[in-house]
Amino acid sequence: MEDQRKPLATKNGEGNSRLPMFASKLRPPSTVKRPRSPEEKQDNKRRCLDYSEKTVETRTRKSSETSKVTSTGNVKTVSNGTLTRQRSETSLNRSTISNTSLRSSNSGSSLRANNVRPKANTAVVKPTTKAASSTNNRPPPARGAQGTVRLATSKTSSANKPPAGNGGGGGKKRPAWDLKGRLEDMEAKLEKQTNNREGLMNQMETQNQRIQSLESMNNQLSGTVSIKENIVSQASEEITDLKRKLRQEEDKRDEVQRGLQREISDMTFLKETLSRQNESLQSDLNARRVEVDGLKASVAQLTSAQAGMGAELENTKLQLQQAVTSNKTKDAEIERLRNLLENRDREIEEQNCQIRSHETERRKLHNQIQELKGNIRVFCRVRPLLGDETLGNDGLISHMNFPDQEQRIIELDKHGDATLNESCLTRKGGNNAQSKYEFGFDKVFSDHTSQQQVFEEISQLVQSALDGYNVCIFAYGQTGSGKTYTMEGTSVNDVDNRGMIPRAVLQIFDSTRELESKGWKYSLDASFLEIYNETIHDLLGDEDLKHDIKMSGQKNSNEVFVTNLTIVPVTKEEMVYQLLQKASKNRSVGETKCNERSSRSHSVFTLKLTGENSITGETSQGTLNLVDLAGSERLKESGSEGQRMKETLAINKSLSNLGNVIMAIGNKDNHIPYRNSKLTYLLQNSLGGNSKTLMFVNVSPKEECFQETLNSLRFATKVNQCNIGTAQQKR
Ligand code: ADP
Ligand code: MG
Repeated sequence: MEDQRKPLATKNGEGNSRLPMFASKLRPPSTVKRPRSPEEKQDNKRRCLDYSEKTVETRTRKSSETSKVTSTGNVKTVSNGTLTRQRSETSLNRSTISNTSLRSSNSGSSLRANNVRPKANTAVVKPTTKAASSTNNRPPPARGAQGTVRLATSKTSSANKPPAGNGGGGGKKRPAWDLKGRLEDMEAKLEKQTNNREGLMNQMETQNQRIQSLESMNNQLSGTVSIKENIVSQASEEITDLKRKLRQEEDKRDEVQRGLQREISDMTFLKETLSRQNESLQSDLNARRVEVDGLKASVAQLTSAQAGMGAELENTKLQLQQAVTSNKTKDAEIERLRNLLENRDREIEEQNCQIRSHETERRKLHNQIQELKGNIRVFCRVRPLLGDETLGNDGLISHMNFPDQEQRIIELDKHGDATLNESCLTRKGGNNAQSKYEFGFDKVFSDHTSQQQVFEEISQLVQSALDGYNVCIFAYGQTGSGKTYTMEGTSVNDVDNRGMIPRAVLQIFDSTRELESKGWKYSLDASFLEIYNETIHDLLGDEDLKHDIKMSGQKNSNEVFVTNLTIVPVTKEEMVYQLLQKASKNRSVGETKCNERSSRSHSVFTLKLTGENSITGETSQGTLNLVDLAGSERLKESGSEGQRMKETLAINKSLSNLGNVIMAIGNKDNHIPYRNSKLTYLLQNSLGGNSKTLMFVNVSPKEECFQETLNSLRFATKVNQCNIGTAQQKR
């Protein structure tokens, strides 16, 4: 019994003492139990049945409303019909008691609360209470309001035994001496108690049955509850699951929402970007439209231009056809002209051959002419008065005359100088107070003659050097007579005053260029030296070396060369000017304090010309020597001393030896004293033989230089006479 109740109590969650307590209370105490007589038992049963019948009757008589309520209340309370079936068998009293007991036991129990829905519980209690109260209302309460059980008990006792007015609860208290009365009371009380007890036992039995049914019901309900609990737990699990799912779904939804939010923002951004792009594209489109408009205009222009070009092209095609036609004609013409040209080329080649043979012929003839002119020629040149020299006499040179048109004679006028042995040359002769000296040369250049005019007369000789002859041009005369001016000029930059050396070089370069077309190719080598006190100095060298004159050891070669001499290959005119400047600088370095070095020394500019004709195979080797001699003024040897004496002796010796060599050549002497001076030794191949010599005799226009002028002219005449003789002999 207790085991069956436990689950109920346990499920209640409250103290589980009630139902067991209730059961134990209901159990009749064994000590109270006493054996009953069969009458007593029968009597009790009868009374109980009476009461039950009465109660049933009372119920029957009651209004339908009350019956309905009770019935409803019973139905509701039992709910499963178990009690309904019992109701027909048991008395209303029992039912009331069981209800009351149940209610009383349930007043603190959670049985109903747990197994039956609260609403049903409330519904059960109320009508039962009403029914009980309605039932209780019928018999008059014996001692006020008490519990239902008491009420039932008092009813039972009142039904069994009418109130005697003594003993029991309601009778007068018997005096202490009334023992019999008191015993009777006690017996009545005991009987009453016994009846109560039996009633209670019955009740208890009923209640136990009822409890059993309730417990079975409870079990059923427990099963239902557990099912429900399972359902509930499943439901709660489902709910949890659903909640979880809901949360998941919510999370998903949030995620999706966030994603959508992001997408929205992305889309918004994209939209903005696209709208910006759209704007820029729109502006682009506008620009393109403008461009397209411009292009359309251009296309229109180009189309019209193309049309024009097309017309032009047609025209050009026409012209081209005409040109092709005319071209054919021209081709024929060209062919004709080509043939003509070939014929001409052949003719030209033939003529060139003739020219080359003529060139060779010309050289021969030129040489013959030169020989006829004399291999030694003398040109006299008078320099103009300069600066203060022009003062007085209106700048005229009073003592000089140039009488002939051919410019071959110079006259000197001087009063009474009978000592001079020039009578043969004087026109007037005798011992007149005024002597006239007349000298005849190959050419006499008056003071008005320009450098160019002078050069024109010597250019033939320069040409001879190119033709392979050795040419030597001297400038002889006293210091200040114009030798250096004649040979070098004042400055290479002063074109008008350029001397014979630069002009000769210029002509040689011009001629070599011309001769190139005739197959000639020349190489030019220049050297520049100075003979001072019979010692050779290299004017183009950077250091002062010892120089000796030597003869080439080769067979059939009489070539003279100077040791350690600087030889510069000249390829253009400008180089010669540079060489002249360097020589002038080197010469001035050697100047002594009281002497102008250049006037005390001979300077020799030598240009070797080596030519080769690749067509004819001819070769030529010529030398052009341009010599600026030392001053020819007679120096009184007796008055000179030391260095001056030495210079004087050297100058006199070399100049007189030059005269001697020339005269020996003219006289065709066996011995020609070349070795007597460095100058003649150096120039031996350019004096006589196959060589051509020209001597400028430079004279000063100053009257006080009359004597020196006379000396110079006499020397030159000697030279000139020699060469005239030679020429004459050749004739
Ligand atoms: P040399 O060399 O014979 O001593 P220069 O040639 O030095 O004489 O001449 C002396 C001066 O006379 C120089 O100043 C020179 O320029 C000048 N001279 C010489 N000949 C002429 C001339 N034909 N025309 C102009 N000036 C001249
Ligand atoms: Mg000079």
